[in-house]
Amino acid sequence: MAQSDNILNRLCSLEGTNFEVTDVKVLEDRITWQIEHKKDAFYVCSRCGEKVVGCHSKDWIKLKDIPVGNKKSIWLIKRARILCPCSMTVRKERLDFRSSHHFLSQRFVDYIEQVLCTKMFTVADVARLFEVDYSIVYKIDHDVLLRLFQTLPIPDPIHIAVDEKSFKKGHSYVTLVTDCDLKKVVWASPGNNKESLDLFFRVLGPERCAKIKTVAKDLWSPYASSCKEFIPQALEVPDKFHVVQALNRALDDCRIELTVKSKLNISKRSTIHGLNWILRHKQNNLSKQQLQSIEKLAQINEPLYKAYLLKESFFQFFEYKSWQIEQASSFLVQWIVEAYKVGLQGVKEFADYINRHGDILLNIIKTGRTSAISEGINRKISVIKSMAYGYKNLQYFMLKILQRCGILGVLYRPQTQ
Ligand SMILES: [Zn+2]
Repeated sequence: MAQSDNILNRLCSLEGTNFEVTDVKVLEDRITWQIEHKKDAFYVCSRCGEKVVGCHSKDWIKLKDIPVGNKKSIWLIKRARILCPCSMTVRKERLDFRSSHHFLSQRFVDYIEQVLCTKMFTVADVARLFEVDYSIVYKIDHDVLLRLFQTLPIPDPIHIAVDEKSFKKGHSYVTLVTDCDLKKVVWASPGNNKESLDLFFRVLGPERCAKIKTVAKDLWSPYASSCKEFIPQALEVPDKFHVVQALNRALDDCRIELTVKSKLNISKRSTIHGLNWILRHKQNNLSKQQLQSIEKLAQINEPLYKAYLLKESFFQFFEYKSWQIEQASSFLVQWIVEAYKVGLQGVKEFADYINRHGDILLNIIKTGRTSAISEGINRKISVIKSMAYGYKNLQYFMLKILQRCGILGVLYRPQTQ
């Protein structure tokens, strides 16, 4: 009998505690474990941690523990109230196996953490799987990520990429820094201004900042002054991904300029509107039918068709190799001339920008940098956003990005082991 008691206590991880299992009931959907104080037990004050010998009274509380197979596991615990000199009043005793999350055992919380940190299940999945309230699982996830964040090593990158990501449908932003060699996000801070990136460089310190050789970023972003101040030695390389985005935006502006602003008749306008997403795709990726639609555009609206061709021709720039800098440079000059000929404001603004920042743009060719990493990370972040029914908490959103796209939690260990 004594041995089987021992096994029950071991099943509940109660060895070495003040408690023991005094009864077990196996029901259809649950197992209830009755847990009481050992005969010679003392009680620990939840306020001061002092051991007290006698108790004032006892009451039963329920905790949920790790399920056993398909059965829920419920602990019925007889908890003491004690008179402790620390406050001269009645206090509850401390239960080390109870988590700070209500009604869950600490080892159940550890187990939920472990499942969440496999990154194979969402918070909603885990809540459903263990029949625990969504808000509690969310809190556990947030807490474990915060704990892991405190153990993150300070990044020491050589090549970085800086980007912003919208949060709450564009009402606020976060700044992300990626280590291009690790291919991982190593930093996230609130906002998308100079101060947001300054924070990262301050954490790095002057020595680490001095080691950074290249910074890939959006030419159109406000991070330039921060880079100038903290990493003046780093070569600025625009992210191809952002250049293409800006190019598409320019074409969009042209479309609006030629349809809405020039009061085109409704039927032509809706035809052009239907072509909108085709215009955004690269010509090589279009189907035969889509190509025919584009050709139709040449008859309906020649200026927009010209702008489209101009956009398509820009992709040739990315084909140049590092030893063809001169050719790439004269290509840009030629492209700008053609752009001004089209005579549309959207294209003209893009061309102006290229004209001013051509040297920086050529760094894409010099370094042979692709935008594969940024694109991959952007895709992952879209998945994160869609999984979490819209993040309400900015800190949690940043931690989640660091976990899913970064190094947060790679070396996860439960707190109590
Ligand atoms: Zn006390």
